[in-house]
Formats: sequence, C-alpha cells, structure tokens
Amino acid sequence: GEGLPRPASTRVMVVANQKGGVGKTTTTVNMAASLAMHGLRVLVVDLDPQGNASTALGIDHHADVPSIYDVLVEGKPMADVVQPVRDVEGLFCVPATIDLAGAEIELVSMVARESRLQRAIAAYEQPLDYILIDCPPSLGLLTVNALVAGQEVLIPIQCEYYALEGLGQLLRNVELVRAHLNPTLHVSTILLTMYDARTRLAAQVAEEVRTHFQHEVLSTAIPRSVRISEAPSYGQTVLTYDPGSTGALSYLEAARELAQRAVGPTGSLVGQQRDG
Ligand code: ADP
Ligand code: MG
Repeated sequence: GEGLPRPASTRVMVVANQKGGVGKTTTTVNMAASLAMHGLRVLVVDLDPQGNASTALGIDHHADVPSIYDVLVEGKPMADVVQPVRDVEGLFCVPATIDLAGAEIELVSMVARESRLQRAIAAYEQPLDYILIDCPPSLGLLTVNALVAGQEVLIPIQCEYYALEGLGQLLRNVELVRAHLNPTLHVSTILLTMYDARTRLAAQVAEEVRTHFQHEVLSTAIPRSVRISEAPSYGQTVLTYDPGSTGALSYLEAARELAQRAVGPTGSLVGQQRDG
C-alpha cells in the first residue's frame, strides 16, 4: 500500500462506546486493516468476550486458543498469544475467547487489576505503529484496562436517534481514568458510522456530533454498506472482501485522516484542522 506517516511511538487507541451495535468492532478491524494496507504495523486486541473482532479477522478463537484472557488473568506474555492475520501483511491480532466473560469478575480481586493490559502491552517488544483495542459494550474492568493502557480514545457514533445518549457516561469515565490512572488519556477521534446520506436524520445527527466535537470528528463518515456487514461472515475485513467497495474506500480514507493527525508531546493533537 501507499505510505502513511509512521508515528514516533506506538499509538494505542481504545475503541469504545458503551452502546452495543454502534460499529466498534467493525471500525476496529477495518481501521486496523486499512492502516496495515497503508504500510503500517498494527495489532488488534480483542477485549470483548464475544470475540467478534477475532472472527472478523479470521482468527480461530474457540475455548482452547491462547487469548487475551491468559494475558490478563494468567499473566501470559502477549507475544505468546499474538496471531498474524492471513491476507493482510503487517496486521496481527490477540484473540478473545468466551473465557473472557469471567475475567470481569476474576480481575476484581487481582493486584493492579486496572493496569494488567497496560503492563502486558508495555512488556511486548515487537515494533508496532498502532494498537487498536476493541472494547465490550460496558464500562467494567475490561474497558477500564483498555483506558489505562491507551493514550487515545476512538468513539464510533452511529448516525441514529439517541446517538449521543450515554456518551456522557463514557466521557466521565475517560476523565476519571485520566485523573487517577492515566494522565495521557484523551478522546482524540470520533468516527461517524452507518451514515445514510439519503436520510435527514443522519445529516442532523452528524451535524450535532460535529458541533459538540468540532476537533475530534473525522471528516470521513462511514456509509451504511451491505459489503461491510457481509465481510465478517467470511472471516475478512471489507478491505480484502471487496477492496473497491465504498465501504472499503471510506475506511481507507478514515485511516489516512487518523494517521495524518500527528500526536504532539503532551498528547495534544497537532496539525489538525481547526476551523469553525
Ligand atoms: P459493536 O462492536 O459496537 O457492537 P459492530 O461493529 O459489531 O458494533 O456493528 C453492529 C452491526 O452493524 C454488525 O452486524 C455490523 O456488521 C453492522 N455494521 C457496522 N458498520 C456497518 C456499516 N457501515 N454498514 C452496514 N452495517 C454495518
Ligand atoms: Mg463489538
């Protein structure tokens, strides 16, 4: 693929929104594949017990597969559970198995329960440009582990009724984690997903989100696309399933925008459009 700016150090991005079905997993795997196809080295960490990101990347995640559960609960090194994604050079995945459903409870009594993922990532020595963490639709200890491990939060927002409902809770949690556990954390990126240009509602929601989050929203919105929703059942991202589709092209463009927003030394975004 074409080259994109390589970040000076690994950008660890937490893909979060406590609503289900807003496009977290779809965004994680397709952004990750897009960045990899642009020539970068990218790791997806599947942190949802459903294992949808693992499925979408064609990674086996039946109960015996070494997974993020072993890393968080058993202290296994990440290097022992990382798998390459076939067909996409430079893309890797730490799968999630159903064991992870119990981790939310098992972690409660563990030492440094909020920072186990952060420690595992810090100890992982492979050179990576991006780590994208796919969160479950809740704000429990798994998501807290992601927020402690990351520098940036990427929030996918579905252009539907009540798009912003519940977002306040996520933003407050980000603030709490920033204040107490991880001073570098900030919401850097918002991506509008399942955008249907033909409806007035989608345009109104997009407008409202862009007003609230002027600097964070990517100018590329991801359209509603059947090809995007079909790809996971073939164990593929839309980038390999149908590379010329509007869905694939929009994720490539969103990834380009993301990569071109350089992160400054304080964690503030620099070189970013600041109009309006
Ligand atoms: P989450 O991880 O937030 O629960 P998903 O990424 O699993 O959400 O998306 C929810 C559903 O919507 C899935 O069936 C997915 O295939 C579908 N979907 C996501 N993005 C799109 C899109 N741009 N166009 C069409 N379907 C989409
Ligand atoms: Mg999901």
